[in-house]
Amino acid sequence: MSCLKPEIAFPSATGANGLDYNASLDMVPRAPNPTPRDAKNGARVKHANVPPAGVYLPNNNRLTPHMRSPEYVQLSTAAAITLGIMPGKMHGCSCTRCLNLLLTYPEGCRANCAYCGLARHREADRDYADRNFIRVDWPAVPMAQIIEKVAADGENTPFHRMCISMITHPNSDADTITVLKAWTDRIAPATVPVSILSNPTTMSRSDVKQLHGLGADIFTVALDAATPEIFDRTRGKGVQSPHSWAKYWEILEDARDIFGREKFGAHIIVGMGETEHDILTLVQRLVDMGGHSHMFCFFPEKGSLMDHLPATPRDQWRRVQVARYLIDYRGVRVDQMRFDEAGRVKDFGIPNAELQTIIDQGLAFRTSGCPGKFREDLSACDRPYGDSPPSNIASYPFQPRPADLRKIRHQLGMEKPGEAYVEGEEIEV
Ligand code: SF4
Repeated sequence: MSCLKPEIAFPSATGANGLDYNASLDMVPRAPNPTPRDAKNGARVKHANVPPAGVYLPNNNRLTPHMRSPEYVQLSTAAAITLGIMPGKMHGCSCTRCLNLLLTYPEGCRANCAYCGLARHREADRDYADRNFIRVDWPAVPMAQIIEKVAADGENTPFHRMCISMITHPNSDADTITVLKAWTDRIAPATVPVSILSNPTTMSRSDVKQLHGLGADIFTVALDAATPEIFDRTRGKGVQSPHSWAKYWEILEDARDIFGREKFGAHIIVGMGETEHDILTLVQRLVDMGGHSHMFCFFPEKGSLMDHLPATPRDQWRRVQVARYLIDYRGVRVDQMRFDEAGRVKDFGIPNAELQTIIDQGLAFRTSGCPGKFREDLSACDRPYGDSPPSNIASYPFQPRPADLRKIRHQLGMEKPGEAYVEGEEIEV
């Protein structure tokens, strides 16, 4: 491919230690505090034994009801607003297209991932159903009530997809199957296809087969870390957590075999200490397997073991977003791209005019995830403000407007002549 190679500038220095990217040495989780015995395994909630009474809105209430899957699930604030279960408005979007569900137990997730608001070490200070996850609260709702509401809307449902997020819990495999079956008994997969965000640690190949047989459409693995070292440091032995890189890849490969091309993928978080070259090599590996990557920008989740660390600098994030979009949807390969000595993208390996068109289309900067009903490269799962505040958007849950694109270009160091970004102008739009 002939290339006019635009030289990438590295415009801002907002990462740890004045760097414009989050370097490995700086992204070290803090150690968890010990949990008192009377707070372990949801003991407080079980001891109080308050019966649930329908919808539960998280408020850090020590009388959190005793709710468990499969009867109860939690759902994202965006999904709760869209379903009319919670009041509220979301900046720039009227609804979410993905009904994100999360299994729930008083004992919570038994893993301890350093970047996650649901991690086990939080037992001491926050009951499971009250914990923030990807920056928002997750109300708990009877599964039957959710199914009733979505079934009543029929073809008019706002949702393009439903996703069951497993957590690390001994009942999680069986309960995922129960929740999926309850859903598909009432709602046709063609009306609202289902994705599974899996927990490989407790799963076997036969679990993957069973979920596929029950009508799940896409299977994803939350790899989250881009390298084995970062995986171990943030969600393995480094934080007394049970996950292993090898087991995650085993289940990812099972998903490739069982769900097939375009029907499996992996979540990856950008900015936990990997280089841009590391993460884009992983993106390429997933595409070569026939799958996709779904990306999150690292954000220091309140209460997590990484809440003292800086969010991913926007220029690092934008470069990875563009490159990932090119690899996932435009057939560009990582080996066509050039990187500097710190592993940062120096050029994207396509002609400049093509690159400018991709940036102007804005799709590369939208939230990435399983597709909805509009187009393959547009995720149903828009996770509004799951990886940034609305004042400094990382993943756009709406089509970036001209002022947003000027900001994105500013972050990339690629402003157009005569179209400079004016600080804060996108907030006024
Ligand atoms: S397994 Fe998932 S839910 Fe549990 S702590 Fe890790 S990232 Fe959070």
